[in-house]
Amino acid sequence: MEIRLSARNIGEILQEDFCPRCFWFTHKFAIDSSNPFHFPMPSIVSLMDSFLKRIMEAHHAERNSLPPWFSESILMEIPEIPVRSLRPIKVKRWRFSIDENVLLSGTPDVMWELPDGKLFIADFKTAVFTPKQENMLPLYTAQLNAYAYLAYKLEGKETEYLALVYFEPQHKAEYDKVLKRTAAEPALGFKCRTVAVEIWDKGKIEDICQRIVGILSSPTPPPGREGCEKCKAMKNWLEEITSYLNM
Ligand code: SF4
Repeated sequence: MEIRLSARNIGEILQEDFCPRCFWFTHKFAIDSSNPFHFPMPSIVSLMDSFLKRIMEAHHAERNSLPPWFSESILMEIPEIPVRSLRPIKVKRWRFSIDENVLLSGTPDVMWELPDGKLFIADFKTAVFTPKQENMLPLYTAQLNAYAYLAYKLEGKETEYLALVYFEPQHKAEYDKVLKRTAAEPALGFKCRTVAVEIWDKGKIEDICQRIVGILSSPTPPPGREGCEKCKAMKNWLEEITSYLNM
């Protein structure tokens, strides 16, 4: 049976607290929207993403360049990028069969072509780059490298740069200034911060996918993390809820 993997979550396996058992359960028994325990995600993040993409496109169409707050933030992190010569490329949903068992898919947020034909791929994050976000780096690094892998396999293009672009809510803005803002002004601003991401050898993405296939192909859940109490809590919860369902 073909296992479908998304660029967004293959990196879960690299996280410090990764549990193969949890991973097996959440992939085999994903909670869909018809389930009463499903909570819709707040739409602010996807709204931000599409708003930012529209701004980038509009700025390029009008002035043939990136918005200054964005190009400056890129140059602060990766000074050698030729920001003035970046050509925006329309993103599409990529799907590639790594072999007869694994289909990897993903859609980058934004992508540009450099003068030498190589790519610069970036992903937007609406969050403050805190130490907690740094813990997410293995996940995001795998995500961006999966896009680079798909670009190579499906478009024949090498990637030169990968980056995370954080839009950090300025929640620590000076109150006196915020208090004076009118309804016509944004109540809260965002600061753009770019974080460069290392480029992996393409074989690493294939290795990760094969490790995931190993976990998901198991007919029974693999052992959980040693000492984790949550499985016990889940079992108790299930027993309790089942006793009511049988009433
Ligand atoms: S051991 Fe903990 S982390 Fe693993 S499946 Fe159980 S609850 Fe999840």
